Amino acid sequence: MENNHAERSHAKLSASSSARWLACPPSALLNAQVADTASDFAREGTCAHELAEYKVNKFLGHNVRDPTENLDFFDAEMAECTDSYLQYITEETTKYHNPVVMVEQRLDFSAYVPDGFGTGDCIIITDEVLTVIDFKYGKNVLVSAENNSQMMLYALGALDMFGILYDIKEIRMVIFQPRMENISEYTISVEKLLEWAENTLIPTAKLAAEGKGEFQVGEHCRFCKVKATCRERAEYNLMLAQYDFAMPAELEDTEIETILPKADSLVSWVNDIKEYALSQAIAGKQWTGWKLVEGRSVRKYTDENAVAEKVKSAGADPYEHKVLGLTAMQKLLGKTKFNELLGGLIYKPQGKPTLVPDSDKRPEWNSAENDFKEES
Ligand code: SF4
Repeated sequence: MENNHAERSHAKLSASSSARWLACPPSALLNAQVADTASDFAREGTCAHELAEYKVNKFLGHNVRDPTENLDFFDAEMAECTDSYLQYITEETTKYHNPVVMVEQRLDFSAYVPDGFGTGDCIIITDEVLTVIDFKYGKNVLVSAENNSQMMLYALGALDMFGILYDIKEIRMVIFQPRMENISEYTISVEKLLEWAENTLIPTAKLAAEGKGEFQVGEHCRFCKVKATCRERAEYNLMLAQYDFAMPAELEDTEIETILPKADSLVSWVNDIKEYALSQAIAGKQWTGWKLVEGRSVRKYTDENAVAEKVKSAGADPYEHKVLGLTAMQKLLGKTKFNELLGGLIYKPQGKPTLVPDSDKRPEWNSAENDFKEES
């Protein structure tokens, strides 16, 4: 049993989950015991990667087959995003004289992490600089290259592989995330990278592989498979309920300020618990004091075409005619044509006020009330 755990844990110390297991080492073993469920987002990302790989390989003159017709997901946006990735790689490679370029390169970083390996989307080597580029197709979470542990693991793998052949001094890590118009770059010296590997990575990976170390709650819990049932996360969030409030019937400002920084974490934790409890109940589990019922439902047509025909024969127009939304319109026209035709007809209304910590980079909201105060 112990052995089994150890083996599975090794395989689970992946680069993509490294931000989590580096912050919370015991999460590695716990996650290794939960089966993967590939989401549609993940499958879409895999297709985009396949297409991007093909385009770069073709550009490099390799003999490759266009995978488009066999992709489970494909649309104009994917074609455009992979085109802009290719354009970026083209620009990067033409910047240097005779660079070595590798696509979908398997990178072995097992010298630092038990059984650690991953795949670098694109590696470019010039004399002293090794560039690792990662294509991210996600559009919800902005990914930064700065001290990005996934990229640092790839960099270590690449360094192990090519460090003997080239006198590499610096590693450039690039996240190319076209759907968020994000190209994030970060450069780290080989010396600093190896220092991190020695002092942080190796000891933490060892703890993670053995299921040891301290649990640590944080942003990374979002990607943890046991986030709904994790005791540490529950205790962290429930601590708020134990807050020793002062006596007056209403909360003081300082008390609200104590609750605010924890509110997001609390809400997402409670939602994770609700989602988990529901999925378990649907799978047959009985929660004492709870039952599954049918939710609210709305009326629907059984056959839209038949409805349209009936309404038309009664002399009325069954259709509503609306201009497509921005996303659908951009999909229809493609980004370039969309900007060319409609650039002057698009505006961005002021967003709703959102309360965020002082550390947030956005400038402070200028409300009408503040404007009025300033004027008077
Ligand atoms: S939910 Fe968070 S604290 Fe709990 S195991 Fe996962 S990463 Fe660690």
